[in-house]
Amino acid sequence: MDSSRPDLPDDEAEWRERLSEEEYRVLREQGTEPRFSGEHVDRTDDGTYVCAGCGTELFDSETKYESGCGWPSFYDVDDDRIEKRTDTSLGMQRTEVVCANCGGHLGHVFEDGPEPTGKRYCINSVALDFEEE
Ligand code: FE
Repeated sequence: MDSSRPDLPDDEAEWRERLSEEEYRVLREQGTEPRFSGEHVDRTDDGTYVCAGCGTELFDSETKYESGCGWPSFYDVDDDRIEKRTDTSLGMQRTEVVCANCGGHLGHVFEDGPEPTGKRYCINSVALDFEEE
């Protein structure tokens, strides 16, 4: 395991201690922050977005784009850093995106993104910490 990352909590009680209430609701309970409420929606700085649960580097600012959907949107990610799961909640069929390292819920991926991937990784701000370049 990458020694720069903190050890993962052993149980949900420890996750609750480590995360804020909103982080816990999103990362551990598949919550969604309100549209246009997140701190990274309009961010254009150069840097790296890391998992707010475990610090894994997830999204490069170079892949961030203005989708207008109200959540930070990226068109690419290193597939080793995430896992995709089918999500049929809320009467929809969506593809959930979770952190491969800690299992934290990040958001969803849709097929309406820009070239070259055509993907839109629609990610909750609260699930991401930003590290400036
Ligand atoms: Fe994580």
